[in-house]
Amino acid sequence: MRSDINEFMMALQAKTPGENEFHQAVQEVVESIWDVYIKNPRYKKAKILERMVEPERVIMFRVPWIDDQGEVQINRGYRVEFNSALGPYKGGLRFHPTVTLSILKFLGFEQTFKNSLTTLPMGGGKGGSDFSPKGKSDNEIMRFCQSFMTELQRHIGPNTDVPAGDIGVGGREIGYLFGQYKRIRNEFTGVLTGKGLAWGGSLIRPEATGYGAVYFVQHMLELLGKKIVGQTFAVSGFGNVAWGAIMKINELGGKVVTISGPDGYIYDPAGISGEKVDYLLELRASNNDIVEPYADEFDATFFPGRKPWEQKVDIALPCATENELDVGDASLLVLNGCFLLAEVSNMGCTAEAAEFLMEKISYAPGKAVNAGGVAVSGLEMTQNSQRLNWTREEVDARLHLIMREIHDTCVRFGRNGDRINYVKGANVGGFVKVADAMLAQGVV
Ligand code: NAP
Repeated sequence: MRSDINEFMMALQAKTPGENEFHQAVQEVVESIWDVYIKNPRYKKAKILERMVEPERVIMFRVPWIDDQGEVQINRGYRVEFNSALGPYKGGLRFHPTVTLSILKFLGFEQTFKNSLTTLPMGGGKGGSDFSPKGKSDNEIMRFCQSFMTELQRHIGPNTDVPAGDIGVGGREIGYLFGQYKRIRNEFTGVLTGKGLAWGGSLIRPEATGYGAVYFVQHMLELLGKKIVGQTFAVSGFGNVAWGAIMKINELGGKVVTISGPDGYIYDPAGISGEKVDYLLELRASNNDIVEPYADEFDATFFPGRKPWEQKVDIALPCATENELDVGDASLLVLNGCFLLAEVSNMGCTAEAAEFLMEKISYAPGKAVNAGGVAVSGLEMTQNSQRLNWTREEVDARLHLIMREIHDTCVRFGRNGDRINYVKGANVGGFVKVADAMLAQGVV
């Protein structure tokens, strides 16, 4: 690493000890944009980068609630309001036992660049709690969400900060959170996205991240002279994001042969589509484990404790969580002929895996590939402000256009001869817009 980047990272690490995921995310961005940064003395003089790595505000709070046995439970809630140079803070809420400040800072930092890439007026933020909805009753989830929102509502608003879902936060949780916000503030307003269709939600929002990712992959393939039809895909997870991706891949003639959970993965060479997807969605809605039961139901193979990256596929889409694919997994994929990997999870690959993949195959990072989710959240905000509901076709067409523009931005800033460095393209493309807005807004 160059010594000036090294110095920057050492100063950050000294100031934020132990925040490893955050350091990993910053390092990737800093390495990509450093040349642009030092070539523009105005950025350096205004200490744009030093300001960008410091969230504008971090809120941390107690979330007490009562479980079904009458026991008091205490979780920790967070909202990291990272950067509002381009618009109100925007980014998901994650409910998962692994949530820490470091994870939310990495996600909020990445979100700032991702939102900038969408070209919609949204700043970056992220929040959540170490609460796990898994295995909880609906009443417990509701009581938790109500307690969480009782504090969060002081800090958010349709022109201030507009959270959405992420891991562990889907339509049900957004409903309970919205209900509590409305009750306390006595206003029906677009303060959250991912809402139900009947009360301010947007068509396509639930599937937008997955659909958008597949549109992005289509554009990557186009540059390689290929199409989705006939390609075999490995997908990890089976959550909000994975199912949308699987539906779109099937629609476009591709075949998905894996899904996974924390306990292992299933391999179904016949393809995961149609009634099999419906079956998975039903299990998921009832809070049940899905991977192993699927194997029993559809005669597929369950590989306990393993990851899908050992299967021979053309394209890999990590859709579960950060650092879910390491350099060993990446080598195995490449060895088996995989020629394209698009991260749908945020920072799905470790830094070493990302570096390896960039050299070997067509590889794109989460902040570009998964931006369709927040893009349609942005479109939900617009519909809420206009008090209008757009048709499915209209939202889908806009999503498609945004994903094409993000891909074009990556190509414009990341082209190196006949290869595209999507990491550089996404980081520089996202950075310049935020940096210029920060310069224009003075030292704030
Ligand atoms: P989700 O609905 O909670 O789904 C996550 C899925 O991954 C679940 O099937 C989960 O299984 C599985 N999983 C969790 N840890 C795993 C592990 N270590 N190994 C294998 N599988 C694991 O979350 P999501 O909203 O789809 O988010 C997935 C990723 O996409 C995250 O990185 C998120 O930040 C990113 N993302 C989401 C959105 C969005 O719109 N939701 C937008 C942009 C980016 P269990 O349920 O059994 O734990």
